[in-house]
Amino acid sequence: MKRFCVNCGIEESATTPIIRGLCPKCYTEIRGLVTKPSSIELEYCKVCGGIKVHGKWVYVQNAEELRETIEDFFIELLKPSEDFILEDIEITFTPYEDSPATINLFGKLGGTKISHAITVNVSWKASLCPLCKKVVGGSYNAVVQLRYINTDSEIERFVNSIIKEFELWIKEVKPVKNGYDIMLLDASLAKRIAEAAKRKWQAVRVMESYGDTRRTSNGLRVSRFYISIRILNFKSGDYIVVNGIPYTVVSFDGSWLNLRDSSGGISRVHIDEISRNLSKYRVRKSI
Ligand SMILES: [Zn+2]
Ligand SMILES: [Zn+2]
Repeated sequence: MKRFCVNCGIEESATTPIIRGLCPKCYTEIRGLVTKPSSIELEYCKVCGGIKVHGKWVYVQNAEELRETIEDFFIELLKPSEDFILEDIEITFTPYEDSPATINLFGKLGGTKISHAITVNVSWKASLCPLCKKVVGGSYNAVVQLRYINTDSEIERFVNSIIKEFELWIKEVKPVKNGYDIMLLDASLAKRIAEAAKRKWQAVRVMESYGDTRRTSNGLRVSRFYISIRILNFKSGDYIVVNGIPYTVVSFDGSWLNLRDSSGGISRVHIDEISRNLSKYRVRKSI
């Protein structure tokens, strides 16, 4: 005899498994696919739109990243029932506005695919993230000294993307000879800029130091974090002086430099060698 759903009477079939005496539809209605809170509160930064999830601030750049962050949050929050394998969710919600969110659950119940929508009331609590708190406080703790050999479109794109991404936490961008000084709120942001430069160019020299030590009103000694980022983007025609001997850069492939001395002799030097001994080398860029 075929098994049937004790609630609605439907018979078991290939598309309708019976799980704990119930068909998928009745299982979903009676037992539920997941346990969920009826409402949750999300803390967000009213200045930058960052969001606090599981105790940690996540900085989002756009609506899509916000949605992904909220989905990750719910995936961790929802507890699937023991017969249900939760594979994915899709959430519809109104950002930064108290309203119900619709969460579409996708997964397998008793071995068959199932999707089902639930709602959770989301309330948003306006707050200030630690970085924006510092903006309001008005001080900067870190300086990025970005330097390069040659100004090219790659450098310009990099500087523009940095200014765009970190806009809220940059106090000032000061053009200097062959580069920029970027005043930032926090050392962790300065390190993120150095990592971005290292991802983009192989030949980047990064040096960290502290300076401008001063006392705060409550007597604490504080220093500013300095990070010097030197992008060694040589191009042919640049001059390098090594141990007093001038060379012209013939070519640079991102790793190896071909150098020509005044009598026409060619030597091949790896960029790491130049980078390690940068103080010994004097560099003059081509016009
Ligand atoms: Zn049923
Ligand atoms: Zn913020």
